[in-house]
Amino acid sequence: MSLNLILLGLPGAGKGTQAQFIVDKYHVPHISTGDMFREAISNGTPLGLKAKGFTDNGNLVPDEVTNGIVKERLDKDDTKPGFLLDGYPRTLDQADALSNMTDELSKPLSAVINIDVDPKLLTERLSGRFICKKCGATYHKLYHMPKVPGTCDVCGSHEFYQREDDKPEAVKNRLKVNVKMNTPLISYYQDRNLLFNVDGSKGIDDVWKNVDNILSSL
Ligand code: ADP
Ligand code: AMP
Repeated sequence: MSLNLILLGLPGAGKGTQAQFIVDKYHVPHISTGDMFREAISNGTPLGLKAKGFTDNGNLVPDEVTNGIVKERLDKDDTKPGFLLDGYPRTLDQADALSNMTDELSKPLSAVINIDVDPKLLTERLSGRFICKKCGATYHKLYHMPKVPGTCDVCGSHEFYQREDDKPEAVKNRLKVNVKMNTPLISYYQDRNLLFNVDGSKGIDDVWKNVDNILSSL
């Protein structure tokens, strides 16, 4: 049986962090629309040019662009054993578009895990986040430092960066934009009996225990 998952949660809730654990244990590809946009922007592709004006300010990239890249990605062979969507869907239009895609591809969703964190905690989470330049592993200057200072736990590289949109000017608008759509999305998946809530204000290891319990019970 395939494991077709969505990780729902506001920016900074811990989706990328939990995604690393899920991929390690359950071997499903991690599909992060934010990562796809950042890669396209850094490669200067037509998609990157379209997305940049939106991501810079923390606004959402238009649904038709985002739905298009997810459709293309889900169509790839590596999603046969399942997939883990992170940062998508973010609007009800995207949720409907995804529902059409999963129907067409006969890949029904197995579960939607909502990592629930009070928005007040998120500014600190985002402002302390730093990322390995080589492999994208995520760290935090207070809550998740690399085991060997200055060395990525995952790939051993020594270069890190802070996301442009994690700087205070962009964070405020990003949280506002995302908070607005979060409740309707949660209801959407609750109505379809797919939603599992996890308390994301706990420590990283505790959150993972809860996520893993849910996944192993499916
Ligand atoms: P998202 O992918 O949802 O935007 P991340 O997984 O990148 O969020 O996490 C945002 C920041 O918060 C990162 O710096 C990460 O190391 C840190 N973080 C993630 N989960 C927790 C947690 N449960 N407690 C404290 N910090 C966390
Ligand atoms: P993230 O890495 O998930 O925080 O996303 C970074 C940025 O990419 C967001 O602020 C949006 O500009 C854009 N983005 C990512 N996912 C989506 C999506 N599902 N819909 C629209 N825009 C998105």
